[in-house]
Amino acid sequence: MEYAVIEQPNQVKIARMDPPTPGPGQVCIRVMASGICGTDLHIYRGEYMGHYPVIPGHEFSGVVEAVGPQVTRFQPGDRVAVEPNIACDNCANCLNNRQNFCLNWQAVGVTLPGGMAQFVLVPEKAAFNIGEMPFEHGAFMEPLSCVLHGIQRADIALADQVAILGAGPIGILMLQAARLQGAARITLVENNPGRAELARQLNADRVVENLDDLPRDAFDVVIDATGAIPLMQRSPDFARHGGTVLLFGVPPAGQRMELEAFPIFRKGLTILSSFTSRRNSFQAVNLLATRQIQVEPLISHQMPLRDFPKALELLERKLPEVRKVVIMPNA
Ligand SMILES: [Zn+2]
Ligand SMILES: [Zn+2]
Repeated sequence: MEYAVIEQPNQVKIARMDPPTPGPGQVCIRVMASGICGTDLHIYRGEYMGHYPVIPGHEFSGVVEAVGPQVTRFQPGDRVAVEPNIACDNCANCLNNRQNFCLNWQAVGVTLPGGMAQFVLVPEKAAFNIGEMPFEHGAFMEPLSCVLHGIQRADIALADQVAILGAGPIGILMLQAARLQGAARITLVENNPGRAELARQLNADRVVENLDDLPRDAFDVVIDATGAIPLMQRSPDFARHGGTVLLFGVPPAGQRMELEAFPIFRKGLTILSSFTSRRNSFQAVNLLATRQIQVEPLISHQMPLRDFPKALELLERKLPEVRKVVIMPNA
């Protein structure tokens, strides 16, 4: 089989090896669609949780090719998406329903071989049946799970006014999830015209180009979906008294953020972050299957596996027309 491997920071190649054989409790998946996200770029650049060499790819779907002994929920031919974060279910955090902070955390495509390959092994519990939905939609199960966890943490209430900073793939998923939670009016901040247009298509009530166009002290919930520190540190300005700020975007490591302390006190703000997801995969699959969350407009490129290095370069250039790039290893 063909696979992509990041051998060390800034070194990626396509190679071949025999497909893996599933052991006890494992399923082997023929990968059909595998999304690239910011985390893959961080791994590529050596900025994030590097375990090299690594086969990247943690947002993927495919067909069960073979099952190992003791697998009960799947058989060959089943269509599945994968939750890449593997919790041990037995440490203090797992036993307290904080699986996203598992002390023995492993992740497919980060610490374990991932979905930028024609075949990959995952534990049975990481696979979720996606029914008949297109594989490239199933590849959004993981990022959508993270977004749903964030939305739950932000506790959006019926008729809330919500501001979302950034209309990249995550901001667009946030927009749709906030709407499902009952937000009455959603404003996005985005200066990339292609992304702003997509936000309008997906029923954003208002899209403004920069933060200076956003009313201050106005929103029940402000969500940063950029991870850009200059935006993150201004996000409390736009929350109303008693409002909530969710810092969702992944910021660069090793950098400080400066917040003016008094307004946070005076406005009684709730400031939250959100890390991966916690048992949100079924929700994500159901929202994708019923198309209550649309992902088709988010996909700008579908490429074969051999173009994975090219796809990383494409994403790094941050062109307005590039949205989600999905690799199709068995197309
Ligand atoms: Zn990701
Ligand atoms: Zn654990």
